[in-house]
Amino acid sequence: MSSSANRLLLLLPTTTYRTEAFVEAATKLGVELVCASERPSTLEHLAPDSLVTLDFADPRASAETIARFAARRPIHAVVPVDDQTTVVAAAISQRLGLKSNSLPAAAIARDKHAMRRCLAEAGVPVPRFRLVRLSDDPAARAEEVDYPCVLKPLALSASRGVIRANDAREFVAAFHRIAAILENVEARLPDEARQALLVEQFIAGHEVALEGLLVGGTLHVLAIFDKPDPLDGPFFEETIYVTPSRLPEPAQACIAAVTRDACSALGLTEGPIHAELRLNERGPFVLEVAARSIGGLCSRTLTFGTGLSLEELILSHALGRPLQSLERERRAAGVMMIPIPRAGRLASVHGADEATAVDGVEEVAITMHPGQEVVPLPEGWQYLGFIFARADTPDAVEQALRQAHARLHFAIE
Ligand code: ADP
Repeated sequence: MSSSANRLLLLLPTTTYRTEAFVEAATKLGVELVCASERPSTLEHLAPDSLVTLDFADPRASAETIARFAARRPIHAVVPVDDQTTVVAAAISQRLGLKSNSLPAAAIARDKHAMRRCLAEAGVPVPRFRLVRLSDDPAARAEEVDYPCVLKPLALSASRGVIRANDAREFVAAFHRIAAILENVEARLPDEARQALLVEQFIAGHEVALEGLLVGGTLHVLAIFDKPDPLDGPFFEETIYVTPSRLPEPAQACIAAVTRDACSALGLTEGPIHAELRLNERGPFVLEVAARSIGGLCSRTLTFGTGLSLEELILSHALGRPLQSLERERRAAGVMMIPIPRAGRLASVHGADEATAVDGVEEVAITMHPGQEVVPLPEGWQYLGFIFARADTPDAVEQALRQAHARLHFAIE
């Protein structure tokens, strides 16, 4: 590859946690970044060759904007960092003739109803589901479903608006709560995603997340994370992720196989995927396959080969550079996404030093600042921060994360 094929467009929603990790990776790899965001940066006029404003909700217009830009300064790869930008990334890549997921595949993976339909048709195990319109009478719909069920928006993430209902009364309450969330959501969603929600059978079981990289249609499993906290609702707060998984090898192989089938059914072929599955006596069920890498700061748990970060792998792959190793380091690692216990204003945070001192804990990153309004699930989507740990075993990692969390105190007024 000529050294000039080196300019990469990074699609960074203003709300993302992922900027620092990708910028750091680009610096290490000597990649020239062009960063696009949906709000104009105050610095844009100073750096017109590296900062661009795009309307992520309008893939076609974004593709045209970048095509004009690229006529002047060629772009060699496009990387979306979050759910909000996967479709626009595919549209831009298609317009520029770059290798990427197809636009239909990216769009299906971004719409929970379209994804369910596609996977079910292909015989990939998913929960039973149905679409409910916000114009429907919730009391009537509530009589037609089996309980427990889960109601969720079609295109939000981080478990935002995902609510379990055990009976018709809870169904109606969840319906109204999600309708209110969709009314107030700041992200620009497609019309369909504002006017309907998905109702699914609740799948009991052990939940895992699979981080993978698709290269020419082949899925490479980078890591399987256990989520050891019970996720039984009514809201589904993600807390602890630990890798490697403690599930028996055959169960992990089965999870990888089902995720592979899901990627082929969706037509995803290039770049990172983040999948969530539940495993019970009936086998694995796919809850989600997103065409992006792991969210928040969680990728800090992953190191490959001789110390490469996940973002370095993603950028290298996008630019068509050779990938040295997709092998994760041998040590167990984990993260706790620190949940928001209740709504209010964050007054102060104590105990970060004590938490960092726990054996195995590498870092405590508090990402919300005093004075900030904090909103718990199901309306919120942020975390108070992240705790990272590494140890010889997954059990030790999990214990370290729990001990560290117990030492933290968040005063919320
Ligand atoms: P998001 O994309 O916002 O993360 P998901 O559809 O992945 O939304 O759901 C978030 C979480 O809610 C899942 O990780 C899981 O814990 C729980 N959940 C979602 N759907 C179901 C289901 N059908 N059965 C059981 N749990 C579910």
